[in-house]
Amino acid sequence: MSGLMNLHGLTAEQRMMRESVLGICAKHAPWDAIRRMDEAREFPHAAYDALAEAGYLGLFYPEEYGGMAGSHTDLAVLLETLGYYYTGIAQGVTTSMIYAGMHVVKFAPDALKAEIVPQVAAGKVKLALAMSEPGTGSDVAGIRTTARRDGDDYVINGNKVWITCAHVADYLVVICRTDPSAPRHHGMSPILVPTNAPGLRIRPLQMLGRRTTHANEIFLEDVRVPVGNLIGQEGGAWKNIMTCLGVERLALAAISAGHCFKITEYARDYAKQRIQFGQPISDYQVIQHKLVDMHIMAETARQAVYRVAALLDAGEAAVEETSMAKIIATENNFKCADMGLQILGGAGYSMEYDMQMFFRDSRVGPIGGGSNEIQRNVLAKRMGL
Ligand SMILES: Cc1cc2nc3c(=O)[nH]c(=O)nc-3n(C[C@H](O)[C@H](O)[C@H](O)COP(=O)(O)OP(=O)(O)OC[C@H]3O[C@@H](n4cnc5c(N)ncnc54)[C@H](O)[C@@H]3O)c2cc1C
Repeated sequence: MSGLMNLHGLTAEQRMMRESVLGICAKHAPWDAIRRMDEAREFPHAAYDALAEAGYLGLFYPEEYGGMAGSHTDLAVLLETLGYYYTGIAQGVTTSMIYAGMHVVKFAPDALKAEIVPQVAAGKVKLALAMSEPGTGSDVAGIRTTARRDGDDYVINGNKVWITCAHVADYLVVICRTDPSAPRHHGMSPILVPTNAPGLRIRPLQMLGRRTTHANEIFLEDVRVPVGNLIGQEGGAWKNIMTCLGVERLALAAISAGHCFKITEYARDYAKQRIQFGQPISDYQVIQHKLVDMHIMAETARQAVYRVAALLDAGEAAVEETSMAKIIATENNFKCADMGLQILGGAGYSMEYDMQMFFRDSRVGPIGGGSNEIQRNVLAKRMGL
């Protein structure tokens, strides 16, 4: 059945990228393999490696580090396409290239950047971002993991949780407290920590959705890393985090927008072939209107994403628009999945069909990347409330 996602406004290069990315995914992560990988909680290595080989993991990085110097709009096209195909692949790419990668590419010392970024772009090294802790999530400045200076090393102690893809990562960008006496937002620093460092342990966690790129708990006990692994200024993590937020939220929103389209197409195709009372259920106006509402939600999410991408490309901070796009896209994504599940009836609730996976995979959007309550706090503040 035909796709619902139009290509209006995309350049010839962006259309080609979309086609190429869909082709790579279909070849290296065919749909039956994805369902199996979801059950087995297996990272989509083959598709990830093929995307890296085609250069897409460097899309947003400068050319001097093996990247393509793509725009925010290019990034939105890539992640919307991956989110449309399968959110797990999109999540794997985003975690390394954007969540953790942006810290390295924007703030790491030149030598570290030159060593790490080309390898991330080539898919030879994967990164993950370790910020959240058992005692603190939304309140990032409440982190307790410490990095104490000892000669030419930092010695890190602490506990991180919900860290996506840490189990397949080669390095973690760990947000540590380097100065416990500094005001909350000042004494924090990001440090690049190899996952094979002695004293670092990773415990895979069972999550509801996005199971192929699942979260992990991290234990750090006297983990030693050279001071050269400090990313940016000591005590400068807050500024780095704030700088990277725009692109992170754009990425999350783009994945969700793409996923809305996938769910809507799946529900439409099911409705057209499901016969009840002698006719396809898609002939009932109530079902048609549900599907139209899903399509509107998908298109609204997409428009919010491309508006943010255009503003970021123009050098605007786009704080309000980014928070709004994150809310719109992630909430529309889950609403589409919920409505889609209803359209499938019992089949929607069954593990035999894909809809349950869409429902589970879409639920994290309003929680991660700064929950939607925190986004609304940002917006309330900007409204003078
Ligand atoms: C699947 C998954 C993957 C993740 N991946 C990563 C990762 O790779 N790296 C990483 O560092 N973290 C990751 N996280 C953690 C994620 O960023 C946090 O879950 C999120 O920031 C919320 O923190 P919390 O879970 O501690 O909830 P809490 O902060 O305890 O919040 C609980 C509830 O209270 C609300 N709340 C909290 N404070 C306020 C407030 N001031 N006003 C209004 N409401 C409030 C929240 O919105 C939420 O609804 C991941 C989480 C999930 C579920």
